[in-house]
Parts: sequence; structure tokens; C-alpha cells
Amino acid sequence: MKFYPAFSAFCASLSLVVLSHAAPNTGSPFYGEAPDAHHPWAVHDQNRPQPKRVEPGTFSSAAQPGQPPSDAIILFDGTAASLAKWESDTKPGMPAQATKWIVRDGALECVPKSGYIRTKEQFADCQLHVEWAAPLAVSGDSQGRGNSGIFLMGLAEVQVLDNYNNPTYADGFAASVYGINPPMANALRPPGEFQVYDIIFRRPVYRNGQLVDAGRLTVFCNGVLMQDATPLEGPGGHMKRSVPIEFPAQGPLKLQDHGNPVRYRNIWYRPLPPRSIEGGTDGALTTEATTAKRHEIATNLRADAAKLSDTAKMLRLAESLSYENDAGTAASVEKMASDYVGGLQKLQGPALEAKKGEAKSVQRAFAYLQKNKILVAPYKPKTQLDALTKAQGWDDVKK
Ligand code: MG
Repeated sequence: MKFYPAFSAFCASLSLVVLSHAAPNTGSPFYGEAPDAHHPWAVHDQNRPQPKRVEPGTFSSAAQPGQPPSDAIILFDGTAASLAKWESDTKPGMPAQATKWIVRDGALECVPKSGYIRTKEQFADCQLHVEWAAPLAVSGDSQGRGNSGIFLMGLAEVQVLDNYNNPTYADGFAASVYGINPPMANALRPPGEFQVYDIIFRRPVYRNGQLVDAGRLTVFCNGVLMQDATPLEGPGGHMKRSVPIEFPAQGPLKLQDHGNPVRYRNIWYRPLPPRSIEGGTDGALTTEATTAKRHEIATNLRADAAKLSDTAKMLRLAESLSYENDAGTAASVEKMASDYVGGLQKLQGPALEAKKGEAKSVQRAFAYLQKNKILVAPYKPKTQLDALTKAQGWDDVKK
């Protein structure tokens, strides 16, 4: 394909000018298919919240860790101060103790035989970023070489192991869900170099003691996919077949002391929103969550309508009916629509012609509500408006 740099640059500058001056185009109401039992928003709904802004971070290099994204919660940033976010993994009921792991050259280093460490902070579903390096000096083999582990909620282990040139049982390989599922590949760098894990964790969900979502782990190692939403089968473990158990609501992140001075750096996480099965906040939701969200959207639109007047008020109230068909609102809309059309019928000539754009937008709104069965046909004000627009020769609108 030919490439014309001057022309492209011209187009880019043109689009920049257009973009910088145009109002944001977030779509129109009365457009995509209406909300339904599992979707509180219409297709292309302008009322659906914009994604929150996150300043992206930077990628890590072998020499230095990257910057986390702006909303990441930092668990270790290379400073001795961030060691205060960790403690020794003492047994339940025992008093907390400072960790004996050390910070050296910007890395959190396991001191063999000092025990696991855990975050003071507790959390659950997350995007987790961890970088780790096995000792440069190779010693041991199989599970004895550069072994540590990342325990989500202190329970499910994503294995940390120097498998660069070191076979072991597959379900205990680096980036395995330990004892449950091997990774899909070996994308490790040599020992001494930092490896980058990006993990997406979803805990098991139970309802009334019944498992409704097994939970899952997605793991990338150095940007290569290792686990593709692997279902959890409980917390995993050594030698024993793992069985599903109910996880607590939250837990700490734990790092394993397996007797090797494995180093960690650049540890951060971003909490994830609840899944649809937990009530959810977006996407296909349960009927209960959808009804609640539709009520919330309709309530907000009606509150907004109260600040408006005339046609804008009527349209906003009409819009609210897409989310919640409230008899009182429907009656108000019908009365306002009837008055609106009655007002138009009294106009003539240029005064009526001046209303063309507005009348067509009202007509489109009622056509939409009728098509989506929010208003039942025949809807008298629409029938009258259709007749009026036809008589005026305005009826080039798709209905
Ligand atoms: Mg381990």
C-alpha cells in the first residue's frame, strides 16, 4: 500500500482540529435497542457511564521496573519503606510480626527459612502485577531451584520457579496453578533476570453454600499467555487432589519462602468490579440487578427532567420510560405530548416550519418508544404528529 506522509499529516491535523472543537459525541437517546431483563442500558446508550480515566504505566525492562498505572495500589515499589506493607505470615491468632525478608537493590528478597510473608492489606478479585527473579547462581533442580510462589488471597498459588533449563512436574511449573494446571508454555528468562507476571484473579463464588462460579486465574508470563481463565479447583496444594472450598471475602497476598533467595519487585494490583453473578455493575446482569439499575437510571432522568421545561422535559421523561415504565410518568408524558401536538396544530406557515426539526425529533422519540414496545400503538399524540408531519411534507423520517 502506498503511503503519503504529507497527506496523512494533513488529515491528522485536520481531525485534531475537528476533534478539539466538536462537542463529545456520546450518541443520542431513542437510538439503539432498548434495555431488557439483563441489560439495564440500551445498545449505544448515552446514559451509560464513560470508562474511568486511568493513566497507563510503562513496561519494565530487564534493568528497571516500569511505572504502574495511575490507579494501581502499590504493594512493593522497591523502597525499604514499602516493606511496611508486609508482615510475617504468622499462624492465625498469633500476633503480627515484621517480616525478615530484606530489601536489597530495589528488590524484596526472600531470606530462606524466615517464613512466608503476607500483605497487611486484604483484597480479593484483582489484576495483579508481580516481577520476580530466581537467584543468578543456579543451585538445585526440579522444585528445588529458585522456588517461591504467589498466593492469591493466601490460598491459590501461581508458582514461581526457575524452570529456564530445569524440568519438573508440569503442574508445578513456573506459572502453573500449583497442583492444578500447568502453564501453556515456558517463556522464562534466564535465572537472575526479572520475570513479569500479570495475573487476573477471580475468587470462587458461593451462594447458600452452593458453588455458583469456580473462580479463575489468567496468567501472563513475560507477556505470553500461560493460564487462560483456568477454573480454580479450590486452593491447590502439594500431593493432594485439590477440592473446591468457599474462600473468605478477602485475604492477603502471600509470597512463599521455599528456601531459595528469590527476589521480587514492582508489585501492584487493581481491584476488579464484581462479576455479573455477584450482582455486577455492568455487562449482562441478573434480573434483580438489572431492575435496580434501570430504576436508578430512570430516577436520575426524572430528576433531570424536573430541571427542564417544555419539549426537553417531555423528551427526558419519555426517555426514562425506556428504563422503567412508571404509570404516573407515562401519563405526564402523554399529556405533554398531547399538548405539544395541539400547540403545533395551532401554528401555520413560517411559525410551524420553524418547528420542523424539533417536531421530527419528537416524532423519532415516539417512534422509538413504540418500536421497542415501551409505548403501545396506537399512541394518539404520535398518530396526530405523523399526520401533521405528513401534511407538511416532513415525513422523510425512518419510523
Ligand atoms: Mg512454590
